Amino acid sequence: MATQKVGGEVDAQCTRCKMNLAHTILAMVGPKIVRVRCNTCGGDHAFRGTAGVTDRPTKASTRAPRAASSGGSTRAEKVVISFDEQLAGKDLASAPKYSPKDTYKVDQVLHHPTFGVGLVTAVRGDKVDLTFRTDTKTLVHGRGGVPADRPVFSPPTNKHTGPADKPQAELPPDSEAAAEISLPSGD
Ligand SMILES: [Zn+2]
Repeated sequence: MATQKVGGEVDAQCTRCKMNLAHTILAMVGPKIVRVRCNTCGGDHAFRGTAGVTDRPTKASTRAPRAASSGGSTRAEKVVISFDEQLAGKDLASAPKYSPKDTYKVDQVLHHPTFGVGLVTAVRGDKVDLTFRTDTKTLVHGRGGVPADRPVFSPPTNKHTGPADKPQAELPPDSEAAAEISLPSGD
């Protein structure tokens, strides 16, 4: 075993430099180094040993991330499923035409007049996420009176947004849109 003594040098993890650096031993208790001074920054601190390499096996030495140095095999591989693969097994022939009035569910295939064949990947209330061949889109659904997964929240008025001392003759155009959404059964 290496003999270490006060005034000697030891590699240790410097708390300030955050690196394994040469330190001068300041104090020892029996065979154990308890206090060191960093030769780089000159700071005194308790001896912590080195982060990766120690003179005796500790659990710190097993924590070294070996995977990082073993080439590209450890890189998390992103599994890319092609659009055609996603559609495999789906009944494209009976895929309905997209309508915001219909209600869709995950994995359903539909035809969109603009984007073409789309696959429903997520349903969030009155919105559906669709994967198309060239893009992903979030569209509305369940607007035709068919109950969606959760009730559509539609505030009856938005009057308290305006100042009370002003007549609300000119409502912003979005109040019209809100009214349209709140209709229970489209047209
Ligand atoms: Zn230091």
